[in-house]
Amino acid sequence: MRILELFEQSDTRHMSAEDVYKRLQTDGLDVGLATVYRVLTQFEQAGLLERHHFETGKAVFELNQGDHHDHLVCIQCGHVEEFYDPEIERRQASVARERGFSIHDHSLQIYADCIRESCPRKPIIKENAENPLTQQ
Ligand SMILES: [Zn+2]
Ligand SMILES: [Zn+2]
Repeated sequence: MRILELFEQSDTRHMSAEDVYKRLQTDGLDVGLATVYRVLTQFEQAGLLERHHFETGKAVFELNQGDHHDHLVCIQCGHVEEFYDPEIERRQASVARERGFSIHDHSLQIYADCIRESCPRKPIIKENAENPLTQQ
């Protein structure tokens, strides 16, 4: 239950098992990583959490609130942002329809470099931004 509360109260909606484990440690709860992983998997099977396998290497979990959204994922630091774009949704449906498909479900992940201060890749992006080739 403490783990579900973590997801409800955290401003980070997407967390890996390690993230959850670290937060529990910070709160003084001595729970092993294997236990955290098992509980997350149980919540996923019960439909309370959704698991994503982004290309950042580790699975991340979020509360399953039944709302559809897509994701922007930073390939440097793993930061995840959600978005919903009605135009993209409509286009996907018509692309499928034109090709003779009827969509059950879809997931769209955009892999990118985030430009947050805390991102380890940020200085390199800044450097690129000063490249005269990109200043036309
Ligand atoms: Zn999400
Ligand atoms: Zn980043």
